Amino acid sequence: MTTPRGGANLRGFHAPNQRSRAGILLDRDGTIIVDHGHVGTVDRVEFIDGSADAIASFNAAGIPVAVVTNQSGIARGLYWIEDVVRVHQYVSERLAEWGAHIDLYLFCPYHPAGVIEAFARTSEDRKPRPGMAKAAEAALNIALTASWVVGDRPEDIGLADAVGASAIYLGREPCHRLGVWSYPTLAAAAPFILERIAS
Ligand SMILES: [Mg+2]
Repeated sequence: MTTPRGGANLRGFHAPNQRSRAGILLDRDGTIIVDHGHVGTVDRVEFIDGSADAIASFNAAGIPVAVVTNQSGIARGLYWIEDVVRVHQYVSERLAEWGAHIDLYLFCPYHPAGVIEAFARTSEDRKPRPGMAKAAEAALNIALTASWVVGDRPEDIGLADAVGASAIYLGREPCHRLGVWSYPTLAAAAPFILERIAS
């Protein structure tokens, strides 16, 4: 009698998929809203000029948009998960005024130097580790190698590297690295991203 094959064996099997749909993974602070440092309340949300319009242009093109944001302020005891959720609800309300929306919000509450025990650890979700990008891939049915990561920190570029996505670095000084395109703002980068995804 042969050993019955359990579900565990089958879970590793996936039908070949044809996914090649591009998505856009946006950092939050310094990309969509001003990085005021650990933004945990809506009164500190300040949109960067043009970012809402840029997101609306991605929406109009039918490209899924996810926010992927490290929120170590939770591990550091500066605010709670509920506060981050409230900030994201507020961001969505404001974006709606511009005819824009975010398809998926992902945030990482962990940090190894945190003071809140439940969140004081390393995490595969903390950028530049790939956890949030992989979650977005599954939730939005996108192909990360066809997708774009946009952010203003090295860990955003590192996230793109980790998952084989293309990277846009936002900053006053360009990032001189092969395979990374630099723009001052999301608004300035949006037409380029749209053109590259369409081609
Ligand atoms: Mg940032």
